[in-house]
Amino acid sequence: MPPRKPVNVRRPEVLEQVSQDIARYNSELVECIRANGNQLELPGMRLHLAEAFGFCDGVKRAIEIAYATCRLFAGRRIWLIGEIIHNPEVNARLDALGLRHLPWRMEDALYAGLTAEDVVIMPAFGVPVPMRRLLEEKGVQLVDSTCGNVIKVWQRVKNYAAAGVTSIIHGKARHEESQATASHSRGADNCGHFLMVYDEQEARMVADYISGKRDRAAFMEHFADCCSPGFDPELHLQRIGIANQTTMLKEETARIQSMLRSAIIQRDGSDASFHVFDTICGATQDRQNALFTLLEKPLDAMFVIGGYNSSNTTHLAHIASRKIPTFFVSSADCLHSVEDIRCFDVQRKCEVVQPLPEVFRRREREIQVGITAGASCPANVIEEVVCRLAELCGCAEL
Ligand code: SF4
Repeated sequence: MPPRKPVNVRRPEVLEQVSQDIARYNSELVECIRANGNQLELPGMRLHLAEAFGFCDGVKRAIEIAYATCRLFAGRRIWLIGEIIHNPEVNARLDALGLRHLPWRMEDALYAGLTAEDVVIMPAFGVPVPMRRLLEEKGVQLVDSTCGNVIKVWQRVKNYAAAGVTSIIHGKARHEESQATASHSRGADNCGHFLMVYDEQEARMVADYISGKRDRAAFMEHFADCCSPGFDPELHLQRIGIANQTTMLKEETARIQSMLRSAIIQRDGSDASFHVFDTICGATQDRQNALFTLLEKPLDAMFVIGGYNSSNTTHLAHIASRKIPTFFVSSADCLHSVEDIRCFDVQRKCEVVQPLPEVFRRREREIQVGITAGASCPANVIEEVVCRLAELCGCAEL
């Protein structure tokens, strides 16, 4: 029997009901700030909102699909693989609707208990090919919320595999999207190869190997968990194609591409065996560009709002923290007092407690605060952070 096709839950009559469910993620205040040239003037403080921030179209669509599935299949067991997106507020609300979770490891016993009566939502990052096959074999009703930008990357790496080109994936090996992309880089016959590099340091190791500085054992030890089965650097770094997780840091990806291209030229005398296709999505790029523009202003501090496990938000925090004091917060609850802001430190990869800069206490001049939010952060959370900050700083209540 052919596998059941994913059902389209975005039907007009369902979407109309869902629009009420998801209206809670909107914010009148944020719309007002946007209409006011992305600025909010408060007594003693001016907030500057980035030109592009918050929910992207892919995330909006995934959330709509999750709510529509709950409406359309009310009474059935509805499962979500991992998280629909990386935002704690959105995920907690969906949990409250009764969504159950399937872990990312398909060896988990929960998969064995699935039947044709179950409904399973695939998240915005997509799922690996073997996991989708297993779900199809189980005959579950699939609902697909994979973002179109992620599917474009899959197409790219599948083309590499078909041409005998190894995919070098710039991404986080543990991130759902990178794992799904890696599975697609195996190609139709499951024989394609991939190697994942996380940062410039790892890309340098690959470049060194290509250009002749080789220590095969050390190389394989380092990349053991980040490459395809049977990966052999002698064979599989001959022809390479770059792809990246859609939410990586644009400037880093550009440097990695250039590093690997130079290594191929050094080895071959030409870049004929080097292929590249920039797969950072428009939403990620727009938010990074808007942040660079915002950072040109004389800001006293920057607030970056979003889930700590959100890749695109982490990169925003990383960019801002190189220039000014940056507070990467997941919600207004992180703002305890002027002395105690719970925020995520992107270098140490843990939550820390930081005071606001001295200027917030002295209040001798107008304080300038920048605000941005990752692609998975709803506007209502941005509003809550803005209101809490205004309250902490003794500005008029919003
Ligand atoms: S960040 Fe990009 S790839 Fe991810 S859901 Fe949004 S549009 Fe799609």
